[in-house]
Amino acid sequence: MAMNLEDITPEQRKELEQNVFFITLERLKAWARSNSLWPLTFGLACCAIEMMGTGSAHYDLDRFGSFFRPSPRQSDVMIVSGTVTKKMAPVLRRLYDQMPEPKYVIAMGSCATAGGPYVRSYAVVKGVDQIVPVDVYIPGCPPNPAALIYGIHKLQEKIRYEAKTGKRVILNDN
Ligand code: SF4
Repeated sequence: MAMNLEDITPEQRKELEQNVFFITLERLKAWARSNSLWPLTFGLACCAIEMMGTGSAHYDLDRFGSFFRPSPRQSDVMIVSGTVTKKMAPVLRRLYDQMPEPKYVIAMGSCATAGGPYVRSYAVVKGVDQIVPVDVYIPGCPPNPAALIYGIHKLQEKIRYEAKTGKRVILNDN
């Protein structure tokens, strides 16, 4: 039944304001997407232990809608946790290419961010952003699970902000 907004009572108006809201389809999709990020596990070294701890009962990453997936086809965020060697780089890129769009990357720890303690090694890539675009950097050697959860929250904010503004942004906490 069609309703003329000018004919409604103040009580009906109050109820409408409390129960109906308008949003664009893009923002609705971003809200759903940001609350169901499925990470592709990419544990490469010691940081991976902290990443695994994030999925354990104590930190319970599942409560944010994030479930680790073993397949790039089912994932929309790659968490690179550990030292990226030059030998591993092409494999990492191939798996990234196999993920469906839209996709995101979290560089977890100082190795994934910039080479970490192995920055002088000829065999280590000085940051995974030399291979794939990175959305969120998490500092630390290693970052603890709380830091990873904070990074995932930042990615959720970024996804929603991009849908709101239509702009691609790089987060920077500085
Ligand atoms: S940042 Fe530190 S803890 Fe993480 S993989 Fe590198 S050396 Fe290991």
